[in-house]
Amino acid sequence: MNNLLTIALSKGRIFKETLPLLAQAGIEPVDDPETSRKLILDTNQADVKLVIIRATDVPTYVEYGAADVGVAGKDVLMEHGGNGLYEPVDLGIAKCRLMVAGPKNPPNDGRRLRIATKFVNSTRRYYADRREQVEIIKLYGSMELAPLVGLADRIVDLVDTGNTLKANGLVPLEHIADISSRLVVNKAAMKMKHARLSQLIAQLRAACENH
Ligand code: AMP
Repeated sequence: MNNLLTIALSKGRIFKETLPLLAQAGIEPVDDPETSRKLILDTNQADVKLVIIRATDVPTYVEYGAADVGVAGKDVLMEHGGNGLYEPVDLGIAKCRLMVAGPKNPPNDGRRLRIATKFVNSTRRYYADRREQVEIIKLYGSMELAPLVGLADRIVDLVDTGNTLKANGLVPLEHIADISSRLVVNKAAMKMKHARLSQLIAQLRAACENH
């Protein structure tokens, strides 16, 4: 049986904030992904590797078993959907909120609202639950620009301090979900590598409590 444990992580905020938690579970990368071009990083444990991928790809790698576990934002998991994953630990890191935002005094002309977002599925679900008909425009970044240039009436985006909204003359309007990063686990791996993964889950839970 393959006893290698593969952990999928994305660079940036999630990597930085996951590192201390992994260290408390005894796992430390040998290379720094911010400077290394390697996509598979060795760790101090011979049977544990880290794969460094885009945040939005983490659920896919874990669902298909290319990684046994991963760390992904709840925003990414909500958008990904699917049921091939366990989500056993809320790591309590990279916290923010998924929100509807827009100009302070929007014109109310009764027209169907246009919402710009990269979170198309979460946005569709949110408005469908409220029985509101909206037009959703998919963007890949800089959502805050859309209301400023007349592309959309509102945006759905992640908000932390609110500074980005404020700098662009926008205000938070509606709260959709609280977001934090979660440990996700491949369902088959949870059976096949049960002892090793149970240990990792317990260690990460303990690390979060001390955090
Ligand atoms: P802020 O200005 O602090 O409200 O941060 C908002 C900007 O940072 C937006 O462009 C968000 O997409 C991004 N952001 C904030 N928190 C997170 C997070 N936890 N994960 C990913 N992006 C985030």
